[in-house]
Amino acid sequence: MLTLKQLTKRYTTGDKALTSVSLEIPAGQVAALIGPSGAGKSTLIRCVNRLVEPTEGQVFLGDTELTGLSSRQLRRARRRMGMIFQEYALIDRLTVMENVLSGYLGYTGFWRSYFRRYPQPVVQQAFKLLQRVGLENFIDKRADALSGGQRQRVGIARALLQSPEILLVDEPTASLDPKTSRQIMRLIKELCVERQLAAIINIHDVQLAQLFADRIIGLRAGQLVFDGQPEQLDAEI
Ligand code: ADP
Ligand code: ADP
Repeated sequence: MLTLKQLTKRYTTGDKALTSVSLEIPAGQVAALIGPSGAGKSTLIRCVNRLVEPTEGQVFLGDTELTGLSSRQLRRARRRMGMIFQEYALIDRLTVMENVLSGYLGYTGFWRSYFRRYPQPVVQQAFKLLQRVGLENFIDKRADALSGGQRQRVGIARALLQSPEILLVDEPTASLDPKTSRQIMRLIKELCVERQLAAIINIHDVQLAQLFADRIIGLRAGQLVFDGQPEQLDAEI
């Protein structure tokens, strides 16, 4: 469960990017974050993993208040969050397996982790995940030899390696064709159900959001302007 309480972000340079946003996303729920460019979607996601420091308000992951953790505590807490990125953020010259294993130390310390031996259970977990996302025949391929959809599957497996409780997903389909986009969204949705993950997906394609999300959260100018079921959105527009 992910909880935001009156989350507000004011960048030093300007206006409020987020104004008192409160949300609760239970385990297993996929919430799509929609809204025009500049609405505050990235800011919201970055306040959760504290790449951006909130100005006011609180973020809880389960019982842990993320706002208020020291940087050392935060490193540990970040292992409980899986991150999936728009441009996959894979390391091209590494193999599929090495890219997935790079998720082992959390998403800050991968350079160090590449040079150490991984515990056998971690390698087994990586292999299982690669099977689950349909890439078991690609484990020794270099990341730059893959298609966009395959690259995002690697990104998904990497995000799940440490069995996170939540997924933070930033425009996962922005670089993909429509059919592959649907496959990737379906996969993310299925994995959230199987593993009971709470997910926030920043997505500009409203139709895709409606197809695969359990809940739509609309932001505009930093304010929560819609929060409901995908079907309810049609009535509002
Ligand atoms: P979205 O992801 O919905 O496009 P953002 O969260 O990126 O929205 O941006 C929300 C607002 O905050 C915008 O007005 C944007 O210009 C501003 N903003 C985002 N990041 C920064 C930053 N690092 N410094 C200053 N202003 C920022
Ligand atoms: P996104 O695609 O996630 O919405 P943007 O293209 O809006 O990202 O922004 C790219 C980077 O620039 C981000 O790190 C964001 O925080 C930063 N940024 C966005 N708007 C501003 C702004 N008004 N001032 C300073 N930095 C900004």
